[in-house]
Amino acid sequence: MKKLSVGDLNLGGRRVFVRVDYNVPLSRQGGAATITDDRRITASLPTLTTILERGGSVIAASHLGRPKGKRAPEYSLAPVARRLSQLLSRPVSFADDCVGAQAQEKAGALTPGGVLLLENLRFHPEEEKDDEAFARTLAGLADLYVNDAFGSAHRAHASVHAIASHFQQPAAGLLMDAEVTALSRLLDAPARPFVVVVGGAKVSDKLDLLEHLIERCNALIVGGGMAYTFLSALGHDIGNSIVEKEREMEVRDLMTLCAVKGVSLILPEDHLEAKPGERGRPTAGPSVSQGYAALDIGPKSIKAFTTEIAKAKSVLWNGPMGRFEDAAFAAGTEAVAQAIASCGGFTVVGGGDSAAAVKRFGLESGFTHISTGGGASLEFLSGKTLPGVAVLADAP
Ligand code: AMP
Repeated sequence: MKKLSVGDLNLGGRRVFVRVDYNVPLSRQGGAATITDDRRITASLPTLTTILERGGSVIAASHLGRPKGKRAPEYSLAPVARRLSQLLSRPVSFADDCVGAQAQEKAGALTPGGVLLLENLRFHPEEEKDDEAFARTLAGLADLYVNDAFGSAHRAHASVHAIASHFQQPAAGLLMDAEVTALSRLLDAPARPFVVVVGGAKVSDKLDLLEHLIERCNALIVGGGMAYTFLSALGHDIGNSIVEKEREMEVRDLMTLCAVKGVSLILPEDHLEAKPGERGRPTAGPSVSQGYAALDIGPKSIKAFTTEIAKAKSVLWNGPMGRFEDAAFAAGTEAVAQAIASCGGFTVVGGGDSAAAVKRFGLESGFTHISTGGGASLEFLSGKTLPGVAVLADAP
């Protein structure tokens, strides 16, 4: 599923509306807002520089937080305009509304190499309603449209969905392109063996994902909190471990699907179990003692999981193996991350907590692709059509 990319466009002298993801964390001490992590801004620079170096100008637009359709100064993108200007080493003008006279004037005044950032799209309720008139007004600011906000592509919002029909060649930015290319490669043509590693708290969030991936992978490793619904469905005692009893039936169906498709399903053989406030102790086998909760996979499981991962030619990882935020229960997640990073295959981590873990353990360079979109990558890998991807033109 190759989409038209920003690099395929004729950019010279054109004003390009670029939907970016500048939903950055801000801290407010002594009144002024400071950006505590600017990685989302730096991640957009390759797309912006491609446009600027090829003689285009940029009209960047994003949401920030959840202002619920009203102007809210604490969600202003003004601090982002200042940071973007430093990073690009060129002036960035700022329109204090994404539509209206000022936005039109400043967009109209752009010359090649110029950059304008619009105020938070979500100050208008029309953005989240995918409103046609609002989308048309945004589109009226520019000659070309590029979407580089993969993390918002699963939402049918005006700036990612309705807007695209106003352009002949709506294109993907470089980040969007990298996401779609990496995730499509796993779904469509994974190098084998293809090992899927899932964890995290809830199996209910990942049922569709698992079903779609079992059709495609060779081995499925399940750890983290969601493993206890599998173990419970198999009749093991799970003590006070987190479980979704009402999902046991669906989990049994997934286990049957694994058997039918010849996918090896690898569940934890042991755990670290603990009472509240205690450090963990290893269990002898898959059962958990009464009054205890399993909070990490144990040493035998680490061995089994990492041995399987070492054989992989492609790996997709989504979800930690335990309550890894607590150092006492991080060993399983770290060992799995390490094994994936050193397996030498095509390795993808699917957003959220596992991406944070990869960064925390300093293993970023061992991954082929670290997806930026938590919800969007889950939906994409579940086989769902993302509205913001579907509207982009196909590559020639
Ligand atoms: P998710 O958002 O579903 O990927 O879940 C991530 C969360 O699951 C993290 O905050 C982990 O602390 C939590 N988690 C993972 N394994 C366990 C476990 N065995 N018991 C409790 N929480 C867990």
